[in-house]
Amino acid sequence: MNAGQAAGADVLPLRPHAAAQETHIRIAGATKVYQTADGPVESLKPITLDIARGEFVVVVGPSGCGKSTLLKMAAGLLSITEGSISISGREVTEPADDVGIVFQSPVLLPWRNIFRNIMLPVEMRGLDTSKYEPRARQLMQTAGLDGFDRKLPWQLSGGMQQRAAICRALVHDPSILLMDEPFGALDAMTRERMNLELQRIWYSTGKTVLLITHSIPEAVFLADRVVVMSERPGQIAAIYNVDLPRPRPLTVMGTPEFAAMTQTIRAHFFAQGNVDA
Ligand code: ADP
Ligand code: MG
Repeated sequence: MNAGQAAGADVLPLRPHAAAQETHIRIAGATKVYQTADGPVESLKPITLDIARGEFVVVVGPSGCGKSTLLKMAAGLLSITEGSISISGREVTEPADDVGIVFQSPVLLPWRNIFRNIMLPVEMRGLDTSKYEPRARQLMQTAGLDGFDRKLPWQLSGGMQQRAAICRALVHDPSILLMDEPFGALDAMTRERMNLELQRIWYSTGKTVLLITHSIPEAVFLADRVVVMSERPGQIAAIYNVDLPRPRPLTVMGTPEFAAMTQTIRAHFFAQGNVDA
């Protein structure tokens, strides 16, 4: 039994899918130096991190420390300067089929309606659209987008567009989800609902999740492990296991264990004198 887990018949395993301890994402000394007109900009010092299949890892860190850079490298959207990142043992050199990505802004195609935007990954991969359409509709319902399928992106609020982007990342049922501050633009209540829903999806499907957030409570609520990064050039300052029982209700945020963990993580940012998370 894990620490902090209450005894009882209805207690579920903390990491139902990570038990195999198979490394799904391996970040091995990956660095990033951007070449700019003003010369090289060192963005990331060597980052080394193994993420197990089915694990939920959340990254927090000050603005500009290289979080988005790391995520884009893992997604195959940005070259890695030194070191490597591999997924299921294969080095990442281009965007992988089995990955869903959610960016900070929704980036929907303005000329496609919401439903066709959400179905885009299915079409791009040449998958059977009729097979995935029910899934897209179910995701839309979960995200509170029922009835908006024929609307164009500009007809939706920013928060609804971001929820559509999350549906789009999930529609082809990828085994890895990479999420860059996906809930930052949402109002507090929608954000909590999306946190719960993401936990439910993760818990029931065993996806491997690497998520970036500015919110320390959100990090602790969602994560198996919280990775704390230090200022640019970013590196890993600390990694914390979050052994709160699963699935976590929102009320877990009121517990002393939760408060202690958020305090510990917050202390990193006060120590750095740069509180951005
Ligand atoms: P974060 O997501 O943690 O806020 P980023 O990964 O976006 O940080 O950026 C990390 C650092 O790299 C920042 O200091 C930023 O100025 C720099 N950077 C990001 N993208 C580029 C780019 N395309 N060219 C040059 N420098 C960049
Ligand atoms: Mg960023």
